Amino acid sequence: MIRSIKTVAIIGGGPSGCSLATLLKRKGYTVAVFYLEKRPEIIVGESLVPAIIPFLRELGVEEEVKSYSTYKPGASVWVNKDEEATSPFSFGGGGLPPYAYNVPRTKFDKTIFDLAVREGVTFFNQVARLEMVGNTDEIKLSDETIQSINNFFNGQPDLIVDASGRSRTVSRLLDIPTKEGYRKDIALFAHLSGAEKIEPFNIHLHRLEKGWTWRIPLPGRISVGVVIDPAHLKEYGTTKEEQYDNYLKADETLVKFTRNAKRETGVMQYNNYQLISQKMYGKNWILTGDAGGFLDPIFSSGLFLAIKGSFAAAEAITAGTEKAFKKYQDFQLYELSIWQKLVDTWYSGSLFTLFKVGQEQMNSAIGRFIGPHMQRHLTRIFSGEAVYKSYSRRFLNFVLGPMIRWMKVGRLHNRTISDLEIK
Ligand SMILES: Cc1cc2nc3c(=O)[nH]c(=O)nc-3n(C[C@H](O)[C@H](O)[C@H](O)COP(=O)(O)OP(=O)(O)OC[C@H]3O[C@@H](n4cnc5c(N)ncnc54)[C@H](O)[C@@H]3O)c2cc1C
Repeated sequence: MIRSIKTVAIIGGGPSGCSLATLLKRKGYTVAVFYLEKRPEIIVGESLVPAIIPFLRELGVEEEVKSYSTYKPGASVWVNKDEEATSPFSFGGGGLPPYAYNVPRTKFDKTIFDLAVREGVTFFNQVARLEMVGNTDEIKLSDETIQSINNFFNGQPDLIVDASGRSRTVSRLLDIPTKEGYRKDIALFAHLSGAEKIEPFNIHLHRLEKGWTWRIPLPGRISVGVVIDPAHLKEYGTTKEEQYDNYLKADETLVKFTRNAKRETGVMQYNNYQLISQKMYGKNWILTGDAGGFLDPIFSSGLFLAIKGSFAAAEAITAGTEKAFKKYQDFQLYELSIWQKLVDTWYSGSLFTLFKVGQEQMNSAIGRFIGPHMQRHLTRIFSGEAVYKSYSRRFLNFVLGPMIRWMKVGRLHNRTISDLEIK
């Protein structure tokens, strides 16, 4: 590990790259970001969690984000088309603000990008070509890249940050081992006008006959995404547009909310979005944001983890020691693994079962006693706090693990847990 880091090249001008660039520039580093101007018409990742708000405040952009977003007071989960369980963030208690925002992503990304420009970060609108140094763990910018930026770093930068998102530039170059999620779903999404209104502006997550869907209320539009096994998707057409439009017309729940809707954008498709690099730093590089690891999006954790991770990376870079980089890596891997466990409770059906039990027991003595406690800790999954409070973690581990298994044995109103799995 290079101990004295003064110059940093960041690959990728998305939220993680630009927030890290800002933090490093504020500390006096020479920083340049390589970015690509061409972005898709709409970008996925539009629902924030309350846990991101303190980071937006520290960056100094919350007011700007608020100006073009909808105010998100909670999350609503639908076990089926008629059963909704709502978790206002205020039920979570703890130390987080009781709200987040739903953000048009192109505007959000521009906010974080413009902040870095204002802070004096240098930007190069081009792909950075990277090469391995011999057969080692060290990497460098190619000679042509160095030339094309007029030798900005006076040779090679001291550190290269991979913030290139799912392109995973450094992991692919170095062939770093990865851990994949066990599901291989596809996500299709678009923006709709005329879909059923959502008020207040909670994110809505629905369990469907096949897969699940999100509805995110943005100003004037609703973002609707469907997450589904590719084997099912084939039944609805051959192009992604056909598959998306036909699935919206075929599933009873989707019909209910989108029957009068018009699709206002193209359909975006995302495959293989659960992947975690098992190594997050090397001799002169570090991974941050999705370039290090990304999870299934069910709990809207992506941008929070990307920006939180850039704060943690800035801390490791400032310390500049092997110990600090190792601590960064260990925590990133730990954090992603805990989030992954929560994601699994969505697909196994445990979370839905718990919601159902909660609703059914609401008026019993035990329900009245344990209900608020349960609601607080379940809400923390949606606020982003559950992973970081050891009591919440232990409590959720118990209720979503052994307790649900015990109920499964006793059968719940003639339903087994498997009835509630995401198929
Ligand atoms: C289906 C789906 C739904 C999601 N929903 C949510 C949600 O509701 N809420 C949420 O918080 N998160 C969500 N996410 C996750 C979220 O989108 C990501 O976690 C977030 O965008 C990560 O930010 P990033 O800066 O690490 O990467 P990105 O946003 O991907 O930015 C990386 C940037 O690097 C650029 N780049 C790539 N290669 C190069 C190169 N060689 N040179 C220069 N530039 C390069 C890219 O063009 C891009 O601009 C979702 C993800 C998926 C797949």
